[in-house]
Amino acid sequence: MTLYSIKMRASQKEHHVSGAERILEKKQLASAVGTLTERALQHSLGTADFINLKIEEISEEAVLRLPALPVTTKPSQNIEDSFSVMASMLNELGITNPDKLITLLRNVKPMRGAVLYDIATNQRIDPNQERGIRVTYMDATDSDSLSSNKNHFREALVLATKVVNTPGMVAELCISDDPDYVTGYLASKMHGYTRIMPLKNVGDPHGGRIFIFDSRQAKPEEAIHFLEKVPVLVDSLPTEKITIEAPEISINNKLDELKKNALFRSMRTMNSEQSKYAIVNEKKQLLMSSNSYLDLAANPRVKEAAARAVLLWGAGSGGSRLTTGNTALAEELEKALAKFKRKEATLLFNTGYMANVGIISALTDKESVIFSDEFNHASIIDGSRLSGAKIIVYKHNDMQDLETKIVSTQYRKGLIVSDAVFSMDGDIANLPEIVKLSQKYHLLSMLDEAHATGVIGANGQGIVEYFNYTAEPDIIMGTLSKSLGSEGGFACASNAIINYLINKARSFIFSTAQCPAALGAALEALKLIEEDNALVKQLQHNVDYFCACLRRQGINANSPTPIIPIIIGDEAKAMSVAKELENEGVLIPAIRYPTVPKGTARLRVALMATHTDEELEHTAHLISKAIKKYQ
Ligand SMILES: *Cc1c(COP(=O)(O)O)cnc(C)c1O
Repeated sequence: MTLYSIKMRASQKEHHVSGAERILEKKQLASAVGTLTERALQHSLGTADFINLKIEEISEEAVLRLPALPVTTKPSQNIEDSFSVMASMLNELGITNPDKLITLLRNVKPMRGAVLYDIATNQRIDPNQERGIRVTYMDATDSDSLSSNKNHFREALVLATKVVNTPGMVAELCISDDPDYVTGYLASKMHGYTRIMPLKNVGDPHGGRIFIFDSRQAKPEEAIHFLEKVPVLVDSLPTEKITIEAPEISINNKLDELKKNALFRSMRTMNSEQSKYAIVNEKKQLLMSSNSYLDLAANPRVKEAAARAVLLWGAGSGGSRLTTGNTALAEELEKALAKFKRKEATLLFNTGYMANVGIISALTDKESVIFSDEFNHASIIDGSRLSGAKIIVYKHNDMQDLETKIVSTQYRKGLIVSDAVFSMDGDIANLPEIVKLSQKYHLLSMLDEAHATGVIGANGQGIVEYFNYTAEPDIIMGTLSKSLGSEGGFACASNAIINYLINKARSFIFSTAQCPAALGAALEALKLIEEDNALVKQLQHNVDYFCACLRRQGINANSPTPIIPIIIGDEAKAMSVAKELENEGVLIPAIRYPTVPKGTARLRVALMATHTDEELEHTAHLISKAIKKYQ
């Protein structure tokens, strides 16, 4: 029977992007042309603008069939340990100076081929050292050979099997040049294909390949001819799924990476309730960063209501709202929220996060389009992704960009969604324009009022009140966990939309209802705000007062809401300034990537209604001092 060798090489602007080869029967050729072409066009390095397909006939007798090398894995704690493992394996092969080879492997200039190193003379003998030795005419006889996916492991095992069976070959060493792939291997007759990890840090693009050859056992020309010309088919590839990497090593690598970039997060321990002053790691701190804007999490009336609810309704709810978990208490809170937001109906969720995920994934699907502000909260992004809808991100609060994007998009149904008060910048969405565009283009509109409820509008009713009830979004989403000092999320909308959510929102349906304490607390907090707007007014006074204090200190600050970002820029510097403030007894954590874009690390001040003018004045002074110290 005749076989065919088919080789694909793809480049973009004369740079190599992808290459692959197969050895196949005639009847498989046509489909191989398709899959290899597809692979060239879909490569992550770019779409090829030049694809070279070469097909040659080869006789079956010329093909050498080899069993795949057995595969083992040797994980180590760190990179240096991995190279020690490699060195001792080289020792076992009779190589007395393994360090020289390892240094070469770690520093070899990037090239497409491999170094051919002769241990009899201790030198490189690949004739063209810019290019190295390129092994070709090889494939495996498994079913994967027609798949268009690149399977690094499969291709490496085929290559290593051919290399190890080359006359005079002692071993092969390899580090992948894929920045995300920290595993390499040593292959030899004695060791089989031994995966060694980690051989580099995540993100490191360096790779290298060395063929260790002994010219006392075979002629170099013979070895090079075998590698470059003799067709090899590798049988019995392992069928079980080989994990790419020992999980604990990849996790530790990623943690190291975070630490290196000052992006590692850990939790601080609060040793008291959440109020203006709190005990943090055993030290009293002025909280200038809590989302409990009205200081209601610690309000005696709210706490008592939570306790009463527990005594009356129990500690837990015992079921989903659709089974046994729905109480009159939950319904009372929903009615109160609907009235407060001037909507027909409300549906509670366990958290604001779950509300966004549930609402968005219920109201949109694969056929929808979601227009989403670039600074929207992560829970909006997650809900949008879960829906499978097409997501179009518009520039922050840029209504012109939003309209341009709506007009240039084909859709049958969709949603415009935005934070009402942006959680990291503290600015307010252009509600009238969002509602106007949504009506003009037959889209639903949804505003996330996590930081708007109890905060903006003369009575704390949120963004609709802030714009004097001139525009009304279809869905108002909110949370009970910020101004209202409790826990839970909600959607306020028409009866139809709320009924739809009850039937479709999976984070509502498949989760146990909120606990009575959370419901009781939120209900009381809402009553408190509705009875008297003094706390809301005080919060709004504090915003103006504190911004003026900062400006007097030469810090550019201007925010219509109690979220006041003080941009520092560099991640490590922002951490130092925050640490300094903590030493002075004021807690304003630094916010970093990925919560905000890289290089815009900031102090995120969040004011409370209960902060006094003196406390605000003093804090502004401390902030200015700390920033100067780290300039
Ligand atoms: C906090 C927040 C949420 C999530 O609310 P939780 O009740 O904390 O889960 C959603 N959206 C925005 C804008 C938020 O700031």
